Amino acid sequence: MPPLLEVQHLTKRYKKFLALDDLCMKVYEGEVYGLLGPNGAGKTTLLSTLFGLLIPDGGEIYLLGRAVQPGRPETLHGLEGFVDTPAFYPHLSAVENLLCTLYRRGERRSTAEIMPFLERVGLAHAAHRPVGGFSTGMKKRLGIAQSLLFRPHLLILDEPTSGLDPNGVREMRSLIRELKSEGTSILLSSHILSEVEQIADRIGIINRGRVICEDTLAALTASPHTYRLKVDNLPSALALVHMNGLVGETEEQTLCVRLQDNKTIGDVIMMLVQHGIRVYDVAPVRTRLEETFFQILGLQESTGHDENTPTHAQKTMGGQYVAC
Ligand code: ATP
Repeated sequence: MPPLLEVQHLTKRYKKFLALDDLCMKVYEGEVYGLLGPNGAGKTTLLSTLFGLLIPDGGEIYLLGRAVQPGRPETLHGLEGFVDTPAFYPHLSAVENLLCTLYRRGERRSTAEIMPFLERVGLAHAAHRPVGGFSTGMKKRLGIAQSLLFRPHLLILDEPTSGLDPNGVREMRSLIRELKSEGTSILLSSHILSEVEQIADRIGIINRGRVICEDTLAALTASPHTYRLKVDNLPSALALVHMNGLVGETEEQTLCVRLQDNKTIGDVIMMLVQHGIRVYDVAPVRTRLEETFFQILGLQESTGHDENTPTHAQKTMGGQYVAC
């Protein structure tokens, strides 16, 4: 399946500072893509460039297979959303703001036609209130309603849950899930890893203007080299593991074994069984996204970060490197 959004070799400089450095990424139809990165990684610059708010210095962006051209908003058809908090006229009501947006884009709709969009994001009760009195969360929800007016193929949400209270976060999460189930693809940026972990299908980790790792959430949170085994004789099993040169430890009455060289989990089980140890259960250890995230960024720091080459440490993480 060709990607819905494909970014190739994107670069953006602020004077001499390289904010996007040969950045590549792909978002596929029907998925929630979580863009994660530390402060200053380049998330806002990337999203602003995707919306045509910044002109890139190099690279290409393809939306639905067609090249997006700087200065030609019609090539962005199908892309909606917001960067930071969406901007509205503060003295106008939610309905009036949406009518204005439609008018600017050459469309006319009635208030009755707009109301379902406000209901959708839980703002029907505030439809006629001036937006200047809205909270950050309400403005974000209004931003989503505004985007949905144009039936986007891809909805871009910048930090959709930041500034929201716990209830607002939960509502935003379920709205994103609903939109996805209705077929809207979503690219969201966030600092909040636990949030992304709950809603994203695929993750791109951005650092220093590059997507350094892009993969499914399942692949990023699985650690294929470490297994947890339930055995009947934990001390003997651990001793055997160590005697065979493997790294192992006990954790919560289970044996955790880290595979090395060409050893498979089958080899480990056979070795244990041959020594009279019963193995009841085997499961790969899942690491939480947060651990993976810091591991990837940490490894990049500690390996000296070659500006052009993916490091060995990055390659060992099981993530897919974007071939730039
Ligand atoms: P945050 O999570 O803190 O919002 P970010 O990942 O969105 O960060 P950007 O805002 O895209 O990062 O910034 C990327 C880099 O570019 C940072 O080092 C930032 O200081 C720099 N930068 C951003 N905007 C400008 C600008 N207008 N002029 C100069 N440098 C800028």
